[in-house]
Amino acid sequence: MVALAPPGSCEPPLLGPAPRGRVIRIAVDGPLPISAMGETMMRDAPTDIRLRRADRILEVTWSHQEPRRFRIRQLRCACACAACVDEMTGVRTLDVDTVPEDIAITDMQLVGNYAVKFVFSDGHNTGIYSWDRLYELKNVT
Ligand SMILES: [Zn+2]
Repeated sequence: MVALAPPGSCEPPLLGPAPRGRVIRIAVDGPLPISAMGETMMRDAPTDIRLRRADRILEVTWSHQEPRRFRIRQLRCACACAACVDEMTGVRTLDVDTVPEDIAITDMQLVGNYAVKFVFSDGHNTGIYSWDRLYELKNVT
């Protein structure tokens, strides 16, 4: 049983001492859903971003974690810029069948401390991949 503070008390409900001196803590395991994180609690920047050209793989490592690996074509197909996804409807307008199997990344630029921008060999360079977004992409095993 959680003891709520009596009406009129200035003690915060749920966080005050419960009967018999127990303290009730509210905590969340694992990453919060984005909607609950707000804009000020973005995922930390990775510690390492490695482009493995021969394997067509981008390897991204966050501290104390196994590297996450993404196919270059997968990244291109997941682009969420206004040229690839309809901003009003959220429907993907990029026809992924037109993305070549051997597409490459020709340049990478950091965007502030929250994202990376890729230049792809098909000339596409408007996609910005936030750390949150990269982290949530399917990891190649
Ligand atoms: Zn795009």
